[in-house]
Amino acid sequence: AQAHIDAVSKSRALNCFITETPEFALAQAQESDARIARGDARPLEGLPLGIKDLYCTKGVRTTAGSRILDGFTPTYESTVSANLLRDGAAMLGKLNLDEFAMGSSNETSAFGPVVSPWRRAADPDAKIVPGGSSGGSSSAVAARLCLGATATDTGGSIRQPAAFTGTVGVKPTYGRCSRWGIVAFASSLDQAGPITRTVRDAAIMLRSMAGHDPKDTTSVDAPVPDYEAAVGASVKGRRIGVPKEYRLDGMSAEIAALWDKGAAWLKDAGAEIVEISLPHTRYALPTYYIIAPAEASSNLARYDGVRYGCREQGRDVSEMYEKTRAAGFGPEVRRRIMIGTYVLSAGYYDAYYVRAQKVRSLIKRDFDEAFASGVDAVLTPATPSTAFAQGEKGSADPVEMYLNDVFTVTVNMAGLPGVAVPGGLAANGLPLGLQLIGKAFDEETLFSLAAAIE
Ligand code: GLN
Repeated sequence: AQAHIDAVSKSRALNCFITETPEFALAQAQESDARIARGDARPLEGLPLGIKDLYCTKGVRTTAGSRILDGFTPTYESTVSANLLRDGAAMLGKLNLDEFAMGSSNETSAFGPVVSPWRRAADPDAKIVPGGSSGGSSSAVAARLCLGATATDTGGSIRQPAAFTGTVGVKPTYGRCSRWGIVAFASSLDQAGPITRTVRDAAIMLRSMAGHDPKDTTSVDAPVPDYEAAVGASVKGRRIGVPKEYRLDGMSAEIAALWDKGAAWLKDAGAEIVEISLPHTRYALPTYYIIAPAEASSNLARYDGVRYGCREQGRDVSEMYEKTRAAGFGPEVRRRIMIGTYVLSAGYYDAYYVRAQKVRSLIKRDFDEAFASGVDAVLTPATPSTAFAQGEKGSADPVEMYLNDVFTVTVNMAGLPGVAVPGGLAANGLPLGLQLIGKAFDEETLFSLAAAIE
């Protein structure tokens, strides 16, 4: 724990942590030492982890990367972080993220952007983004500031930052982990998961994080398997679907080559590769950017200057609300709230929100049919490009940033598990990631396949 605390304090230039909690980590590590000495060690004894600052932590400031939560210190612990602490983990601090997890580069955080430890060969001074929204998590793990980190994924926020930093990211099935105590973005899409350096570490961490929680009615009451046992298990005879609709027009040759390489690795390990069709793929991104902002606009209504954090003065209550929300939310969050309230408003609800929900069902049905045809998992690239430099994407047109999520949002729309696993380096020296998508509650197959790629 001390070695990691030192590494954290030497790497502040990366801006991974919003809040460091070294005393906390040391106290927990001492308890771990005592338990180990007594011979009753727990599964994660003394492991130094970072917690994305979207998870409420008892007695430790929680910001969601936003000014609107200024001064908010939860009196309770999120179920997932409580599970990790119960199993002996030591919390090094709270990790930076895009504001309310809205973003793909960690540039929307009110606490400044996070820098990736990776360098681009041609211009090593450029500050490379670690992906988002879990950019503090991915950068901290890649920079070896923590052994693993919690993250959340609403449309790709675990898998895309993992792909950008050469780490492993697991977005479990919707309902696998409790969302209780995690600041809500889009409740029907949000899911907690780990970012780690290896597939095995992710399996170990997820086992602690997962499980039924009576406080989250969408968490599923099913036993949590021993995911670690699936790491290294044979993938012989597994059928892997390669969806032709993901071969987008204008896909770079490098990404296409990565995808072929991934398929070849799995074939070498004994799997069978088959082409499949997921015909509604092209509607996933536009549909996501209706549903996610709709749910966000509702979830973020609670930040009214009364219940949490910052409050601006106004002549009356309405003016206080307006001023508080104008001062507390950054531009991306305000954009999402405006889109969300628009698509939910009386005249547009049927045209946008209801229609998007119908398309969502079709996207899910595409996967159901692929799995019903005998496919065990689906292989795609995790992202359409490598990481980019700060300021390079999305500043003129937010849609350019949204395009990062083309390969990842389908998984959230269908509620399925997805894993990002490193697939080697691009010509620019930055990592590339592959994505594996599994059947609901079949994370074990994904761990086996990801380990075969790793
Ligand atoms: N980048 C996507 C967005 O901005 C996904 C974010 C996430 O998964 N939290 O909405």
